[in-house]
Amino acid sequence: MTYRLHRPEALHRLVHDMVVAAGWNEAEAQETAEHLVLANLSGHDSHGVGMIPLYFQSLADGNLSPAAKGTIRLDAAPFLIIDGQIALGQPNARNAVDRAVLMAKANGVAIVNLLDSHHIGRIGHYAEVAAAAGLISFFWVNVAGRPPIVAPYGAKEARFGTNPHAIGIPLPGGDPLILDFATSRMAHGKARVALNKGEPVPPGYIIDGEGRPTTDPAHVFASPDHPLGALLPFGDHKGAGLSLIAELLSAGLMGAARIDEKPAKTWIINSLFGVILDPARLEPDSALRKSRIESYLAFVHAAKPQDPANPVLVPGEKERLMRAERGAVGIPLDDETWSQIVAAAAAHGIDAESY
Ligand code: NAD
Repeated sequence: MTYRLHRPEALHRLVHDMVVAAGWNEAEAQETAEHLVLANLSGHDSHGVGMIPLYFQSLADGNLSPAAKGTIRLDAAPFLIIDGQIALGQPNARNAVDRAVLMAKANGVAIVNLLDSHHIGRIGHYAEVAAAAGLISFFWVNVAGRPPIVAPYGAKEARFGTNPHAIGIPLPGGDPLILDFATSRMAHGKARVALNKGEPVPPGYIIDGEGRPTTDPAHVFASPDHPLGALLPFGDHKGAGLSLIAELLSAGLMGAARIDEKPAKTWIINSLFGVILDPARLEPDSALRKSRIESYLAFVHAAKPQDPANPVLVPGEKERLMRAERGAVGIPLDDETWSQIVAAAAAHGIDAESY
């Protein structure tokens, strides 16, 4: 499978124009384009512009509507609960996190629960938003509206979503630490990217519908050719436990859509549980906070690498290195992903090739 390099600005304009043409407003289009292109720039193609065809399929099926907007159920510091109304996910979650950031700034802490949003994308994005405001954040997210795709530890079949978890710690005057991962060994979207590229996934990441190890990503996508397999959790019982906790924290306590409910529609629903806090309430001296974090990071960075070509990195660093590289050379999109985007754009009267 071949690929082409695209300028980030061109992809941003294209996604923006597609989202506006499909009926969303200017601010929603800006946020969606910014989020998706930044995911590609960060190296997370699974959560980049390749998601747009899936969102537009949801729209075409009548399951996602530009008229849907999140509504506030409870705004009583430090608690903020928002009904996501299955609205377009990136602007929906950004709105929830922006409100929680203001609450945490004013009160020292905010506990936010966004219930039943359409797919909200790369969770590290929201940790970056909080870190940019100088705040520490923790997020747990479930993935409902589709069949389970991750096997519990020791199981031959799936019971979880890829339930991501993200933590952000700001460094005053420097780059934040952003730890952001799916609780499966690989994000489902990365299996989709491998499938589109016609590539195998590494051994130990997935099992087929009979519970046997396989490297063929087709087994984690529904097909009449085989029963649905499963992704394995990261870190064996530890990742599996974290996935279960994310499901209960984000959706299970409040009665939002859960993975064990039979999906009736073609959509991905995320609920998000977040804790955002102001580190200045813990250590008011930002210069001290900065020097303490930096001295520890220097200690970690100084660890001798196993491979001298791969220096030791800290969370968030790989994405920053990738942003610098892709910002300069462009974003690679494989032909299958691009043709899906071209078709989704054409359905709304947009010629993606002209961007
Ligand atoms: P991943 O395996 O690439 O891990 C990323 C994390 O590990 C980052 O914090 C990164 O900085 C860190 N990291 C990577 N390489 C490192 C190295 N060599 N040294 C030190 N740290 C390193 O991520 P993933 O599990 O594939 O998840 C990809 C994305 O998918 C995430 O942004 C996640 O939020 C998103 N996701 C979203 C959903 C959803 O439904 N919205 C579901 C699952 C995953």
